[in-house]
Amino acid sequence: MGRTPNEKRSVAYFSMEIGIDERVSTYSGGLGILAGDTIRSAADLKVPMVAVTLLYRKGYFRQELETDGWQREESAAWLVEDFLEEMPHRISVLVEGRTVHLRSWKYEVKGIDGSTVPVYFLDADLAENSEWDRNLTQSLYGGDEHYRLSQEVLLGIGGVRMLRALGHDSIRSFHLNEGHAALLTLELLDEAAHRAGRKSLTQEDMDAVRKQCVFTTHTPVPAGHDKFPVDLARKVIGTREDFFALDGVLHEGNTLNMTYLALNLSRHINGVARKHGEISRLMFAGYTIDAITNGVHAATWVSAPFRELFDRYIPFWKKDNFSLRYALSIPKGEVWNAHMQNKKRLIDSVNRETGVSMDENVLTIGFARRVATYKRADLLFQDMERLRKISAESGGIQVIYAGKAHPRDVEGKNLIKQIFRAKHALGKDIKITYLENYNMTLGAAMTAGVDLWLNTPEPPMEASGTSGMKAALNGVPHLSVLDGWWIEGHIEGLTGWSIGNEVVGKGEHRDHSLDAPSLYEKLEKTILPLFYRDRERFMNVMIYSIAINGSFFNTQRMMQQYVLNAYYSR
Ligand SMILES: *Cc1c(COP(=O)(O)O)cnc(C)c1O
Repeated sequence: MGRTPNEKRSVAYFSMEIGIDERVSTYSGGLGILAGDTIRSAADLKVPMVAVTLLYRKGYFRQELETDGWQREESAAWLVEDFLEEMPHRISVLVEGRTVHLRSWKYEVKGIDGSTVPVYFLDADLAENSEWDRNLTQSLYGGDEHYRLSQEVLLGIGGVRMLRALGHDSIRSFHLNEGHAALLTLELLDEAAHRAGRKSLTQEDMDAVRKQCVFTTHTPVPAGHDKFPVDLARKVIGTREDFFALDGVLHEGNTLNMTYLALNLSRHINGVARKHGEISRLMFAGYTIDAITNGVHAATWVSAPFRELFDRYIPFWKKDNFSLRYALSIPKGEVWNAHMQNKKRLIDSVNRETGVSMDENVLTIGFARRVATYKRADLLFQDMERLRKISAESGGIQVIYAGKAHPRDVEGKNLIKQIFRAKHALGKDIKITYLENYNMTLGAAMTAGVDLWLNTPEPPMEASGTSGMKAALNGVPHLSVLDGWWIEGHIEGLTGWSIGNEVVGKGEHRDHSLDAPSLYEKLEKTILPLFYRDRERFMNVMIYSIAINGSFFNTQRMMQQYVLNAYYSR
């Protein structure tokens, strides 16, 4: 005791988006949810972490769907004062030569034993800033590349300055959760040069900064890697020729590529699943890239009926997620009853809100994720006649969809319309609904309330995926292409089922056209017969999903790996 809590923080976690609370709309999808779950587990494990992100007063957006499925974006504004505590400190950064003042707001994430991780939200909405600058912390993924780079200056440079102002001067590891925060390295370089009494940066400063940074890359999709032309970088950051001249700052001499900047200035680099580590090593040859497989925060994503069940049979499950392996000892009937409570709740709310009249006795498939074309939300409808026949001959299926498309992703938006068309075409034969405004609450209700969680990405584009892990914790088996985490979590017929059976690397040929036939075959020959005619064996798969996958694919295990392999390693 006698120390201020700030002195003890040695890990600083930087993320462009963090999903801390359903009502705080500062996340768009998987990256932000993972950030929130990471912080929750750090708090549980008493990891001395502090987190930094931007405050988005207008949030991401609230999705509304017209009758034909066309997406409209509504404001997701929220009341900052209701959730966050304003801090008195003020710092400033230069953006295009203008001084932009920043304050921060604190949210304390509480762990199971009451220890906390403070999250600081940087806010430029101050009277002393120009209108344009005030707007910089309004929207997540909202503007053009000029707006985005300006935001990244605030997050990276502003974030380090704010931490220093708050008294965090013994950070040992700065964790860059994706490349967005990579400009924090510029501030750390300046600190290193300053300590050495130099006015401009040298290669030596790079070595000093590399010792301080840890980088996680999150996607093999090229659009997921921010890059800015050097002219724009000079305009926004300033003519920092000493910075741009360092070996490893500009990519190919003319691009500020945030991924390469982070790769060149981090001592530990990792992908988010074993396969993604492999793919990343192929994408970024010459770097040592490790893999730490993602997880989800178990206590957050386990539904009330299963929480009650685990509390009774596995009393230490929250403190020790590994102990969820004892789910094997829970009587099947009790698991089924807990599941049916979740299913009834979901179906009641679907029926109330959409009037679709789904049946709680029919096998219900769930599919919810960011609508990106590589995720192939429409794969299930490739052969509607076959699907209709499978459903009619088996006892029936019904499907619940959800997911937002990025406001400027017209292809993604058209994909939602296509699912609406399939819904109309299948009419009463197969009931389908597309729920609006996918968010944490809906994600929790869906992953717990369906009988089967479907995932259909085009390998190897899905770095990890996490919604299937939420399903596993609630005893909902997974049917998925072998990609991302599922390569590690899949045991055929025991934890779920695969679509197709090969695992391929980047550049290797894989015939994606075989996926839809394989999906139909798995449903027809394996899953539906099990569900309708051998319920005991279906229940086994539910229980093994919890015991084998729930006990492992959680952020408690993941955080322990970050602590051992990244944060406190050299
Ligand atoms: C879990 C979750 C995600 C990420 O799930 P994926 O399987 O990676 O697509 C995205 N959005 C919400 C609201 C979630 O709850």
